[in-house]
Amino acid sequence: MALRSIIIVPDPRLRQVCEPVAEVDQSIRRLMDDMLETMYEAPGIGLAASQIAVMKRVLVMDVAKRKDAAGSAEPIAIANPEILWASDEVSTYEEGCLSIPDYYEEVERPAKVRVSYLDRDGKKQIMDADGILATCVQHEIDHLNGVLFVDHISRLKRERVLKKFSKAAKRDAPKLKEARRETERDI
Ligand SMILES: [Zn+2]
Repeated sequence: MALRSIIIVPDPRLRQVCEPVAEVDQSIRRLMDDMLETMYEAPGIGLAASQIAVMKRVLVMDVAKRKDAAGSAEPIAIANPEILWASDEVSTYEEGCLSIPDYYEEVERPAKVRVSYLDRDGKKQIMDADGILATCVQHEIDHLNGVLFVDHISRLKRERVLKKFSKAAKRDAPKLKEARRETERDI
């Protein structure tokens, strides 16, 4: 397993639509393992492949949030997720994103979703998610479509936070280029 670099806004790859996985083979399983390790290290409860600049429809989650000796981790790694159904009932969570560090805002989403996906063995599965898992899986599937959680908040708030990150990126441009080279080398 290897830690990967997480890209942040305004990296344009976060706005790209990811490609479906043709087959869950050894390289995809290795990607899933790397993503889980990177997510736990961050730490976060979800990570989409595009966040490590791999444009594939793969995501990992662990809403138990912990990886400890007691084995309380509940890692989920899935490919090609599709939302089959979403409830009319909504719920609101304060969301954050590893690609938009230190920014949190309340987002309203369907409270329950049914998602089809391919598991680590390439077998088609169905997941019924509610609570924080429902929010998390919708947030990550958004990533695979180039959508960020700030797209669900008011335009004023969105523009304010994205502008802040654009300015910081310009200021830190030489450093960012270095980080990008590192990411490309790791793929
Ligand atoms: Zn995110």
